[in-house]
Amino acid sequence: MNETGLSEEKIRNILNDSKGQDLKYERVLSSMCTYPHRIAVQAHMQFIESNMGDFGLFRGTYNLEKEILSSIGDLLHKADAVGYMTTGGTESNIQAIRSMRNLFLQSEKYQKSLKSGQKYVRPNLVVPESAHFSFDKVSDILDVELRKASLDDELKVSVESVKSLIDENTIGLVAIAGSTEFGQVDPIKALSDIAVEKNIFMHVDAAFGGFVLPFLKKSYEFDFKLPGVTSIAIDPHKMGLSTIPAGILLFRDFHHLESLKADTPYLTVSTQYTLTGTRSGAAVAATYAVINHLGKEGYRKTVSRCMELTSYLLDKLAEINVYPLIEPLMNVVALEIPKCDIVRSRLAKEFNWQVSITQNPHGLRLVIMPHVSFEMIDSFVSDLKKVLDS
Ligand code: PLP
Repeated sequence: MNETGLSEEKIRNILNDSKGQDLKYERVLSSMCTYPHRIAVQAHMQFIESNMGDFGLFRGTYNLEKEILSSIGDLLHKADAVGYMTTGGTESNIQAIRSMRNLFLQSEKYQKSLKSGQKYVRPNLVVPESAHFSFDKVSDILDVELRKASLDDELKVSVESVKSLIDENTIGLVAIAGSTEFGQVDPIKALSDIAVEKNIFMHVDAAFGGFVLPFLKKSYEFDFKLPGVTSIAIDPHKMGLSTIPAGILLFRDFHHLESLKADTPYLTVSTQYTLTGTRSGAAVAATYAVINHLGKEGYRKTVSRCMELTSYLLDKLAEINVYPLIEPLMNVVALEIPKCDIVRSRLAKEFNWQVSITQNPHGLRLVIMPHVSFEMIDSFVSDLKKVLDS
């Protein structure tokens, strides 16, 4: 740190320079984030100092959070679901599994299963092979063995594989409503039935799909309507058009949330259920603003435009003989392209396009977020053709 500060003008110049080095979303087809809606940005700025970690000081922001939870709970068929606003999918997934693990370890079933002298048996969690890498962090942080169930031909988790991995130390299942790599939705109804039958918890990772699936023409069963679903992660900072860091974690019952309780003696409130201490009230205000401004109608329009762009992209790609690995059901497209790692780096180096790669099967991955336009797709497909032809 300098002894004396720099002038505001100097700082602004440095920042402008750094901002100039950031990529613009207009060349980005790899991200699940986008430009936030302007009303979200304005609300974010208005509440910039608000700290939800000490919400006794910020009652107004706290009330906005309560309204968001009930409105998103309602969207997910449980208006009285309980939870809080997280920093995104990773935190929501960690906390959902932490709650499962805590309740499992406290359960009579687990305590009775311990053999004499045994203090601890490592619990396990069954997740689809397509689960986001945040679950690897979950496993490490929470000391939970991760059992990865295989996928079927459509890249949904195989129900048989899930069943085969469950044993008496399984704390629960994870289902993905909109997988990161393929935008695929697992057979969540069948998984919910298994969770009910085996009396284990089930978390749905709808971090991406939560703001897509309810607004598609086709309907999908993925939320609290299914009795086995005990928690859901859904991110306003992705397709919800809110600001970063806005995530939401919802539980069906309060006792799940309560299992995360920590005493907070020096704050204005005596308990916290959250992972982080200090939390952004700005992201809360931004989320309140955008979900209430857009309403279901606004999100339907946004999703419908993204889907229109996705089918336009597929038509254009078919003209150059490039096809998807699976028929996209949302705005995530994985393409069958030989040597896709080389294609990806050439697209970046020669044309400044950012795309990503899927692991298994290996493919070129594009996310058609609200910042994408028809012109952007024309230009991308033309550049892709140049790369493939040379
Ligand atoms: N879950 C899914 C399905 C995701 O696609 C992502 C990120 O893309 C995450 C979780 C992690 O979200 P975040 O990066 O906000 O922590």
